[in-house]
Amino acid sequence: MKLFTPAWKSNDEKKAQAWIAGCGSQKKLTVIAKEAPGIERRVAAIKKITDQEILMQAAIGGSRFYNDETLSSSDRRLYNLQHRYPDEACQEAAIECISDPEVLYRIAEEGPYHDARYSDHVTGTVVMKLRDAGYDMEAMAANPELPYETRCAAIGYVGSQDFLIRLADEEARAKGKRITVLRKAIQAISDPAARKRFCATEKTHEWESVSYEVKEIGDTRFITSVERCRYCGQEKEELESYKF
Ligand SMILES: [Zn+2]
Repeated sequence: MKLFTPAWKSNDEKKAQAWIAGCGSQKKLTVIAKEAPGIERRVAAIKKITDQEILMQAAIGGSRFYNDETLSSSDRRLYNLQHRYPDEACQEAAIECISDPEVLYRIAEEGPYHDARYSDHVTGTVVMKLRDAGYDMEAMAANPELPYETRCAAIGYVGSQDFLIRLADEEARAKGKRITVLRKAIQAISDPAARKRFCATEKTHEWESVSYEVKEIGDTRFITSVERCRYCGQEKEELESYKF
């Protein structure tokens, strides 16, 4: 007995794509977005979905929306190689299709809480679209009710140095402060002295090795390494020694 395979599940990519291109049913397109064996097909279906609520679910993604089981092993392998979740291409396509700024704002409010697979890159695109729609980036950056991912993306669009210093100040004092937001604010401050002052009092340093030097005296090896904070630019020297 030959079982009927819908065209969008066909092994023939061209046939599947042509069928999706001609599909007029929003309901079917939603099923394809969730279940199709190839990411390209899921993306093609998402691009034809107009329902903003469904696009919001597709944008947030995760296993509650996308069926991992039906994804072909070759597509899964490809994304494993790229260290990306297969959802990411679908999430990006969905965000592109969302025209209602209120829906975008809800994604900015809720997205990062929903699923670990919701990507930072998608947050960045959502916040950029909100900025283009005229949303106040300073208000979003300062809003403690928003997820820190969204706040950090908004900080990237703030130009006022006065605001950034005020934000870092408030954030440093806040109960339940998010060190990620504070660091992002410090990084955006252009005055090196102010950056160093915040970083030193709030201990937000994150050291990266810049250079090191090895010297051997007798049976002892001395290693001097210079480390630099990626947020404030402060440098420090570490000396280690051991006998060999
Ligand atoms: Zn620092």
